[in-house]
Amino acid sequence: MEKKFVKAITARDVDFAKWYTDVVKEAELCDYSGVKGFMVYQPNGYAIWENIMNRLDKRFKDTGVSNVSLPLLIPESLLQKESEHVEGFAPEVAWVTHGGVERLEERLCVRPTSEVLFCDHWQKKIRSYRDLPKLYNQWCSVVRWEKTTRPFLRSREFLWQEGHTIHASKKEAMDRTLMMLDVYYDFVTEDLAIPLIKGRKTDSEKFAGAEATYTIEAMMHDGKALQSGTSHFFGDGFAKAFDVKFINKNNEYEYVNQTSWGFSTRIIGAIIMVHGDDSGLVLPPRIAPVQTMVIPISMNDEKVVNKANEILDRLNKAGIRANIDLSDKSAGWKFNSQELLGIPTRIEIGPKDLENDKVVVVRRDTREKVDVSLNDIEEKLPVILETMQKDMYNKAKKFLDSNIDVATNMEEMVKKFNSKRGFIKAMWCGNEECEDEIKFQTGGASSRCIPFDEEHLSDKCVCCGKPAKHMVIFGKSY
Ligand SMILES: [Zn+2]
Repeated sequence: MEKKFVKAITARDVDFAKWYTDVVKEAELCDYSGVKGFMVYQPNGYAIWENIMNRLDKRFKDTGVSNVSLPLLIPESLLQKESEHVEGFAPEVAWVTHGGVERLEERLCVRPTSEVLFCDHWQKKIRSYRDLPKLYNQWCSVVRWEKTTRPFLRSREFLWQEGHTIHASKKEAMDRTLMMLDVYYDFVTEDLAIPLIKGRKTDSEKFAGAEATYTIEAMMHDGKALQSGTSHFFGDGFAKAFDVKFINKNNEYEYVNQTSWGFSTRIIGAIIMVHGDDSGLVLPPRIAPVQTMVIPISMNDEKVVNKANEILDRLNKAGIRANIDLSDKSAGWKFNSQELLGIPTRIEIGPKDLENDKVVVVRRDTREKVDVSLNDIEEKLPVILETMQKDMYNKAKKFLDSNIDVATNMEEMVKKFNSKRGFIKAMWCGNEECEDEIKFQTGGASSRCIPFDEEHLSDKCVCCGKPAKHMVIFGKSY
């Protein structure tokens, strides 16, 4: 019985893609639905997203952001006002053509993102510099008609937040763009224990209509990159297209400067692929819906069950997200189930533990067992959870650092991408053709970002040999 349970998951190093889908399925995080390309977020998966929303929302509000809700649909004429933007999104939008049985005079697209709706709203509302800045965010879902789908990573509808702000000056908008990138960076590194590379996208990889796109990039266990959050600086491009003007202090008309920033359920894919192992999910304690599972070893020993319930009660009162497994399954089955779900710790309690006034706490990531005296459980468990949180980050950071290599010519680059996992840093001339050539020769490695802490590896572009402008991180990506 217990063996069969574990076997349901393919070994991670045997087939990473299969391992991923097995974990998603067996841990009941997310499932395909009757609508092609659309997902059902099951309770175990949605609970992770709820915690992400709560913690990230608090960080947004700490910087003065307010939540709003804008329409689901965008009239075609509105979408077409900004040419780069419409070109970028038109191939993947879904259209509403009928209201009931009547054909609409103008078709409406289901929002793929909401820049144009915010601009349309602000065009009507903004008059003076006194109306600025506006710092808005909405938690919603968007639709992009993807051809291939994978749980959390790519689906036709996904959940996210999109922040949109407008400002009186370019500098203020740029400061906000970078501030929100830092909010993402701090949240992902601190709360999700995922190390990141922070940087700017090259022009070919930036958001449609943006002057600059900034990104946080994470490395999955197979060495591929996952873009984990982006923050865009628009300058006054959208404002000009939508005529969003204000009267400045000198009584002159000026266009607003704008930003947007987004973070989606893709990040759950990253949590799985950075921290998971052959037994299933490993959730960072700060984001885990359940932080500890109390497991009575002998269900027919009334004293043990009573004590286990008492511990549960005490932990919940102490603000620890605890649960108890009182099912009639074997203890081994319960351990496997807790491990599969990635619950950071379990508390084992049996008759012998009771005699010694203690319990055994087992960490999910290292499986380290610690005896904790019954009296100390409320104090000791948070320490164990915080240690685990930090250890998980450090382990992932070590993995990231040890899987970034350097290439100074194409032969080296191709050889390295073919022979091992991870990212490669290389110098680049700034030309899009070289990015295309690198992608072609390496079988899909794209420029992930120009990191904020650039190094000088050589004077020449890795591809064409012309003078290099930047150091770029290249990687295959999800
Ligand atoms: Zn070049």
